[in-house]
Amino acid sequence: MRWELKMMNYDKAIEKYAELLVKVGINVQPKEGLIVVSNQWGLPLAREVIRKAYEAGAKHVEYMMGDDEMVIARYQSAKDYVFENFPEWKVELMIKLYEDNYHHLFIIAPDPELLKQIPSDKVAIDQKTASAAMSPATKFRMTGQTKWCIAAVPSEAWAKSVYPERSTEEAIDGLWGKILDATRVSLDNPVEAWQEHDKMLKKYKNFLNEKQFDKLVLKAPGTELEIGLADEHFWMGGSKESWAKDAFVANIPTEEVFTTPHKFRVNGTVKSTKPLSHNGKIVDGFGFTFKEGKVVDYYAEKGKEVLDQLLANDEGASYLGEVALVQDDSPISNTGILFNNTLFDENASVHLALGRAYAYAMRNGSSLSQEELEARGANFSLIHVDFMIGGPEMEIIAYSKDGEATPLFEQGNWTF
Ligand code: ZN
Ligand code: ZN
Repeated sequence: MRWELKMMNYDKAIEKYAELLVKVGINVQPKEGLIVVSNQWGLPLAREVIRKAYEAGAKHVEYMMGDDEMVIARYQSAKDYVFENFPEWKVELMIKLYEDNYHHLFIIAPDPELLKQIPSDKVAIDQKTASAAMSPATKFRMTGQTKWCIAAVPSEAWAKSVYPERSTEEAIDGLWGKILDATRVSLDNPVEAWQEHDKMLKKYKNFLNEKQFDKLVLKAPGTELEIGLADEHFWMGGSKESWAKDAFVANIPTEEVFTTPHKFRVNGTVKSTKPLSHNGKIVDGFGFTFKEGKVVDYYAEKGKEVLDQLLANDEGASYLGEVALVQDDSPISNTGILFNNTLFDENASVHLALGRAYAYAMRNGSSLSQEELEARGANFSLIHVDFMIGGPEMEIIAYSKDGEATPLFEQGNWTF
């Protein structure tokens, strides 16, 4: 598996990428353990990550591989009870590893249509069983006891979905180039570039948290939207801090600074600026009208039935659960492509999400009950679907409780 990259030598790129994941993504400290997960496409990067992790002083690196064909074999051949039962030892193993100071790197190389032939209820039951069973382990990551990071490399199917007209090798080469640009790996010193980038995200996040603005007003072609923010909302962005006080970056790339809108204080209209890919279907040229938080009208040039289904999920699906600020001039949006993958596309633009709010995007949110969060205006739903609304003409003004205006975005970018 080796392709000539036009922009830089492939081996050098892999080495720089690995260094970024070990030093910034996980921030491996001496005597820590590391778990690396990938499928077959992640092997070359995983090998280099293992080298860099040991150089950084890791006590042990455990590599876990799951091949796409194995995933399909299981779905096609396993009996129904397989999807309703989760091996208890797998949960215990993960908890043991986390308790023993292991941290977790996920290298993803998705095939957007991998499960196309598998009945979707089978996949849903399987995922529900797995996430319910694994939740005592997942908690270690959600609370920051365990550091974790998700990063991506191209798979053949993914590359072909981005560049359908190209040959396989050219498509993979093209997607590699875009991933390296979007993750800043193609810069001379990606580790330093990320430290700078993180400083900026922290600056915005801290400013917004200090101000505790009452509402945001967003203006762009087709958009004039007032978004009241939840009571005691909390802005998130950039690196997180582990229990051991080490910074780690859970998503590479990440460009967003985001918080929780108030469920009932959203009014006006908003127009999408990028297509939305949902459950393998595309919605394009769409928009919503909100009244007292709820979607009261919507349109789509393409795929309106997807929106019909989306909004019909439950009551909360018609309300917002996230507002995220991403400036137009960012490495991801500058690639000029749609990645067909949320890790990238969600970070390309100012976006909103219909559905569930994140508890951690509320002050002390992780320690509050659902009722307490709802009382402060956080939305609940089974879904959380992001859609992109940013662009070079986006203007955002924040208002304090007494009406004082602070411009946040002009011509698509932060004003400070
Ligand atoms: Zn987001
Ligand atoms: Zn989101």
